[in-house]
Amino acid sequence: MAHPLSEYRRKRDFARSAEPRGRRALDKRSDERRFVIQKHAARQLHYDFRLELDGTLKSWAVPKGPSLDPTIKRLAVQVEDHPVEYAEFEGRIPAGEYGAGEVIVWDCGTWQAEDEDPAAAYAAGKLKFRLRGEKLEGGWLLLRTRRLGGSADQAQWLLIKEEDAAARPQADYDVLAERPDSVLSGARLDSR
Ligand code: MN
Repeated sequence: MAHPLSEYRRKRDFARSAEPRGRRALDKRSDERRFVIQKHAARQLHYDFRLELDGTLKSWAVPKGPSLDPTIKRLAVQVEDHPVEYAEFEGRIPAGEYGAGEVIVWDCGTWQAEDEDPAAAYAAGKLKFRLRGEKLEGGWLLLRTRRLGGSADQAQWLLIKEEDAAARPQADYDVLAERPDSVLSGARLDSR
């Protein structure tokens, strides 16, 4: 079986970008797993949603970012697994490199699966979970709707807030606009 980070590494030149090369984490037993959402000013601004599972960060690019409104479904395009150390990455990926542009940690914390076997739920394309972050909390759902081509890591999913105390109508509160900055450094992406 290929190393889980082979696709991640193939796309990047670690002599030029400060992104981590990554080691495979060994901790599979903890039910407190990390999540991170990175705001990434690449060619198109997007939010990279990442959940720690089986020693890597399962990753989705969310073009419009998360919404606290349960009636709003946000497209989440699955991308290659990232190393767990990527959760702390903030900085500029140099011009000409894969994903060139600035990255900030928009939110981070821990997540818990609602399913007994989150790896099986992920494989089945329906992952229910709770987030404990600084900006995002409560129940969420990631639902796979479509596979693209033959590649396992390019499926389309939807990211949906569950109805609970942390839900807010989008018209009343846009968490992306209200809280645009890094939770690690306070950094803001220029003019975003
Ligand atoms: Mn990205």
